[in-house]
Amino acid sequence: MSGARKRGRAPGILPGLVHGLVTTARTALRPSHTAEYPDVAPTLPPRSRGVIALLEENCTSCMLCARECPDWCIVIESHKETIPATTPGGRDRQRNVLDTFTIDFGLCMYCGICIEACPFDALFWSPQFEYAEYDLRDLLHDKERLRGWMPTVPPPPALDERSAPPAEVAAANRPARPAAGAAAGAGAGAPGRAGGAARPARGDGAERPVRGSGAERPVRPVRAPRARREEDS
Ligand code: SF4
Ligand code: SF4
Repeated sequence: MSGARKRGRAPGILPGLVHGLVTTARTALRPSHTAEYPDVAPTLPPRSRGVIALLEENCTSCMLCARECPDWCIVIESHKETIPATTPGGRDRQRNVLDTFTIDFGLCMYCGICIEACPFDALFWSPQFEYAEYDLRDLLHDKERLRGWMPTVPPPPALDERSAPPAEVAAANRPARPAAGAAAGAGAGAPGRAGGAARPARGDGAERPVRGSGAERPVRPVRAPRARREEDS
């Protein structure tokens, strides 16, 4: 009894050795998944967060991304420019011109908040990740370098077949409105908007009841003066 218990407690090294050899043999025969980087580029998911790309034309220097960045690693500088009025008597307009746009990738934690916060679609994720530097200061990407990542941004995913067309496409496919001069010259018999009948001139009084004529509203009874007032007078 005591011998069997002893054998159960210490089965010896042979079973463990055999088990280890089997595991080694099984692993050795399994196909390798080693990525041969940098000789073979890795296949990354389309939404990989590699580096942030800037589309400068869309940026209005609104500073939203810089304010929302939890690491304060976006620095933007801009100035105002006056655009002269295009019509006589019109007002001059002002617009922001971007001077510098810098992201410090030494601080960035790749949260993507800046991209989500941008209301003008000026920032995008690019799956590029090969921008390691020997000097930390070289991880400061200015707007030219950020702009240079734009060609590596993957195209957006296709729309769902059953979804409504984008507003821009719908607007482009809408039939053009007739010119204002042509519509006026066509006279009253010409079809108006969307091919409907011409609008009657306002103020002709044909259909609209005249306000205050008393035809539709009941006349309010005149109140008798109070007796007390009569006494006072
Ligand atoms: S990804 Fe996050 S941390 Fe990096 S710049 Fe954008 S907001 Fe800042
Ligand atoms: S939020 Fe967009 S538009 Fe505004 S400053 Fe940042 S990148 Fe430019």
